[in-house]
Amino acid sequence: MFLLLFLFWLRGTPVQAWNGHKQISAHALSSVQGLDQVVEKTPYTYDIVDNEQYNPSFELKYLLKELPEIRAYDVLVSYAQEPDWGLDSDLELHTLQILTGGSQGWRHQRYTIFGGQIAFGTAPQRAQHFYDLAQYAYSLGDTYWAYRFLSRSMHYLQDMGQPLHSLPLPTADFVFQHKLSLKKAARVGENVHHNLESFILSQLTGERQSFIDALEVGGTKSFGSVSQGAVELNQAVRPMAERQYFLVLKVWPDLAEPTSIRMNFSNYAPNETNPHMEELLSIIGDSLTLTAQYSRGLIEKFQAENC
Ligand SMILES: [Zn+2]
Repeated sequence: MFLLLFLFWLRGTPVQAWNGHKQISAHALSSVQGLDQVVEKTPYTYDIVDNEQYNPSFELKYLLKELPEIRAYDVLVSYAQEPDWGLDSDLELHTLQILTGGSQGWRHQRYTIFGGQIAFGTAPQRAQHFYDLAQYAYSLGDTYWAYRFLSRSMHYLQDMGQPLHSLPLPTADFVFQHKLSLKKAARVGENVHHNLESFILSQLTGERQSFIDALEVGGTKSFGSVSQGAVELNQAVRPMAERQYFLVLKVWPDLAEPTSIRMNFSNYAPNETNPHMEELLSIIGDSLTLTAQYSRGLIEKFQAENC
């Protein structure tokens, strides 16, 4: 009930887009065979087959103009962030989308309560949707759009590997720490969410070796349907969410202030000596490893079923 109230309070709060997809994909897929295949850029001709709702102001971009040849790997990596470029915002998808901050959150998250009995958000279904479109494009011989759809599918799957996309705030913190103050809890929750994701992105951009190792360590998770794989990843990282939240506040106690705090990237190099930093880095590493293993699993499933 408290969590429901909290989620209700979050309505209208802009939902964070997780910006690490390109870096995660570049490292996660570097060992996958068969992605050197050169693909020919083709126009988008899927309006009729994909008649789901998208933001009408979303405009398709064609990147990689500087490359003489585009490989499947380049498409997968370069467009891994594409579903965050406005595709899913400003839509009326579900009466409960308010609980995830709007249509963008609804399609990119999966919050569960009551031990997973109730879930909010459709990220697993979006991963499946674009996987199906990738298969369709491939069957037509359109390898460019096959890999671009597959990249979108991978995006929603990777969103499920972020522990904070499975739980906005530990319920106990809300009840005891914030004494049921929705406003305070929401502000601190947002501080943790935003700054943790910024920290991870800054470390990936800065090539922190332990994160790169976590992504490249190897292993592949195989799964049945893509939507089932996304749910499994969401469930696998859910137990990390509370501890990770706690550790972020231990490493950066200022974030517990009930005001909006956006740390500067230059503040992030710090604090390797904080006793909680090592455990935080280890949890982030574990979630990155799982995300990479499911990403590889997705691509290898596609190759096994289609190529
Ligand atoms: Zn997303």
